[in-house]
Amino acid sequence: MKKLEQKFAEYCGVNEAIATSSGTTALDVVLKALGIGKGDEVIVPSFTFIATANSVLFQGAKPVFADVESETFCIDPEDVAERITKKTRAIIGVHLFGHPFDVDALSELCEDHSLVLIEDAAQAHGAEWDGKKVGSFGIGCFSLYATKNMTSGEGGIITTNDSELASRIRMLINHGRSDHHTHTILGYNYRMSDVHASIGVAQLERLDEMNEIRRRSADLLRNIHIEEVRHPVERDRAKHVYHQYVVLCESHEVREELKRYMLSHGVECGVYYPSPVQSQPLYRNKGYTVDTPVSQDISKRVLSIPVHPSLKREEI
Ligand SMILES: *Cc1c(COP(=O)(O)O)cnc(C)c1O
Repeated sequence: MKKLEQKFAEYCGVNEAIATSSGTTALDVVLKALGIGKGDEVIVPSFTFIATANSVLFQGAKPVFADVESETFCIDPEDVAERITKKTRAIIGVHLFGHPFDVDALSELCEDHSLVLIEDAAQAHGAEWDGKKVGSFGIGCFSLYATKNMTSGEGGIITTNDSELASRIRMLINHGRSDHHTHTILGYNYRMSDVHASIGVAQLERLDEMNEIRRRSADLLRNIHIEEVRHPVERDRAKHVYHQYVVLCESHEVREELKRYMLSHGVECGVYYPSPVQSQPLYRNKGYTVDTPVSQDISKRVLSIPVHPSLKREEI
């Protein structure tokens, strides 16, 4: 486990990496270590995997949903700015599908309003903004679940340059221990096992190679021209690692037709995500209503097509 932490910290260019039992527990324990709780608000994108927002609910705090950009599908800094209140403590940006969110804009907002920037990098191991790895700008939370760009079977990892925060997190994930027989705070067992970590170490060694294969496949996919379909965008300052290759169809009907066509020809494809997070029953039942028009619109038009590293050129 120590070896994975050391190598991952080095890879991301940060001082500290802390291995956890999952990406969800990584997000959860970061918010706990920051002391975020009842009465606090945390801004999250409305278009992401539900775990991003749930990590806020776990604290008894309020997730506030911001809309995303139709170009990159990542959290929209302009919409975030409008949702900051006196209660806001942090922003969780998601480097969605392997493309970094606008790190500069969100960092600036965090600086101006004294907020903590958390990077949900569960889908973006190795992605870069201005030549620097994601997870090195705020507090990074990675998932090492089986489907991600690198895996340990199950697992997560937190990256930070704040050594005080890191030691608090290390206590929280290990029974509140400050040393072997001293339990100073209420802690959990959110540790990663050495067995899982050893898989993680082997995967990290191959991460750049795997991401390059994904990027090459993306280049091939990009040559497929369909009038009604827009390919994923890679911003000038961004390096995309294509956790998913997500196209944006002209309309919901085109998306459904393309999906049917591909499935009927034995090509797996899927919709990530079919609705904004706050449209899920969990959030609807809490009284959330949708007011993120871009998320609502694109959720009807996106389609993820295969880009995993074992995909062969002929198959593409
Ligand atoms: C996978 C994922 C998570 C959760 O990670 P787990 O390891 O499955 O708990 C959180 N956020 C995003 C964006 C994810 O894709």
